[in-house]
Amino acid sequence: MKKLIILLTILVISCATTGPGGKKSLILIPTSVEVDIGKQVVQEVESTEKVLNIPDVQKYVNKVGQKIVKVCDRRDIKYTFKVLDSEEINAFACPGGFIYIYSGLLKVMDNEAQLAAVLGHEVGHVVARHSIQRLQFVYGYSILMEFALSDKLSSTAEQMVDAAAGLTLQGYGRENEYEADDYGILYEKKAGYNPKGMIQLFEKFKQWEGRPPTFFEKLLASHPPAQDRINNGNKQIQKIGGTTLPYYTDEFAAIKARLP
Ligand SMILES: [Zn+2]
Repeated sequence: MKKLIILLTILVISCATTGPGGKKSLILIPTSVEVDIGKQVVQEVESTEKVLNIPDVQKYVNKVGQKIVKVCDRRDIKYTFKVLDSEEINAFACPGGFIYIYSGLLKVMDNEAQLAAVLGHEVGHVVARHSIQRLQFVYGYSILMEFALSDKLSSTAEQMVDAAAGLTLQGYGRENEYEADDYGILYEKKAGYNPKGMIQLFEKFKQWEGRPPTFFEKLLASHPPAQDRINNGNKQIQKIGGTTLPYYTDEFAAIKARLP
């Protein structure tokens, strides 16, 4: 009986806001567990990748990221934004709000609105809880049973961290990518940037699509073709407007000039 009550409680309290307009989804993994999983993924990331050692660049990227956080639909966690020192053209979000962008991606950008677009996309994955929903789908039953039997995850936790790390780096599949694009464009505009920043980036990606796959394999592996993302993005921009907002280039250019 006690177990049943706990299970029911989890179901009742787990309808979380996962998108703009008060969109709700059933989230069975509590935020505290999501953050714990995220912290372990972070450990894996930072033991294999090098965090860029230029405090001004880190501060700047975090400042832009926090502007996005202020207007996003999920603020029950503390978001962090870090730059990784690598030529890879990519960015990713770990569960719990730990977001990374490679210096290689910063180097191909021209303005702060483009950076806000990428960070907005990654925040979008966290708001929509894409990794957590996927983990629920795979581990749903065992997660519920573990919660019912104890207040702490144990044996499943390790498997979940591995799965979360894999998802984080591979991307989430097309449907989730479009959703993250939509949220990213909306948050970018709400934070005061021209949402066309996202489209400018996709135009660049489109030019590179014919290049050897090693150039940005991870970016292309799970993401929809650039032209489809451009079409989808333009539709979203038509709905929300904001095309007269600025792109902000000066501070971005100064930061970019300091990248190794
Ligand atoms: Zn994505």
